[in-house]
Formats: sequence, C-alpha cells, structure tokens
Amino acid sequence: MPSAPQSVSKPLSIAKAGEACFAGLQDFMCQNPNAEIPDETLASLHMLYGKNFAKALEVVDSGGITCFVGERTGRTLYKVPGRRPADQYLVFPAHFCSCQSFQFDVVGRSEAVCCKHQLAARLATVLKRVAIVTTCDIELARMLLEQCDG
Ligand SMILES: [Zn+2]
Repeated sequence: MPSAPQSVSKPLSIAKAGEACFAGLQDFMCQNPNAEIPDETLASLHMLYGKNFAKALEVVDSGGITCFVGERTGRTLYKVPGRRPADQYLVFPAHFCSCQSFQFDVVGRSEAVCCKHQLAARLATVLKRVAIVTTCDIELARMLLEQCDG
C-alpha cells in the first residue's frame, strides 16, 4: 500500500487545507456577521484537526482570548487561557504556541500541525470572540521576553 509518502506529506497538506478553510470561513463571516459557522465548514475543520478542533471550540467558548496589536508594526500576538486560569499561553496562530503540546506534538513528533490554542486564536478571530488590545511594540517584545524567562 502506498501509505509511506502520504504520511510524510500529511502535516503540510493539512496546514494548506486548513488555511483554505479558514480563509473561506473568514469571507463567509465578513458577509454574514451574525451567522454561525456553517456545518460543512465545521465538518471540514473537524476532519482536518481532529480532537484539537473540538478542544479549540471549548477554549473559544470559555472566552478570555486576547489579541495584542503592535501600534506601529501591526504585529499581532495572542494570549490564550489554559485549563487553569493562571495559565496564559502566548500564541502566534500560524507559527508558535508556548504550551507543552506545541513543543511535544507539533515540533517534537510532527503529529499535529498546530495545537488547540493556535486553532482557538484563529477561530476566535474569525468569530470576533477576541478582545483586541492595541499596545506599543516594546510591550509586545517584553511579553515575548517574559515568556522566554519563564
Ligand atoms: Zn498551545
């Protein structure tokens, strides 16, 4: 069975399909601001991201996701709450999360294309369930440094 090449290319193609899915969803939500996520999009996202997607929806539902936008650079950085209220993860939706699952499952074993916090940040953004805070870029850098120290 020609399963070996498939498993090698899988994470990348999932990431690509995910991008397309989110882009489509973004368009849809722009045109239908008060709509729910369409069932077929839900199904596609669930197929692509598996249990991480269900977990991400839970995170979005519990709220508390904040997007910090650098006032000069327009750079964005998310803070997504973890299971315990004290846990706050720093998230770049396309590239990075400071949680353990990202380190182990995404970077370490390449089993997942992203963690639930990254998905939650993207979902919260398209659903407008995110608090947007404009901040100076130095503050953004400080938040990142803090993360490295911690
Ligand atoms: Zn994470």
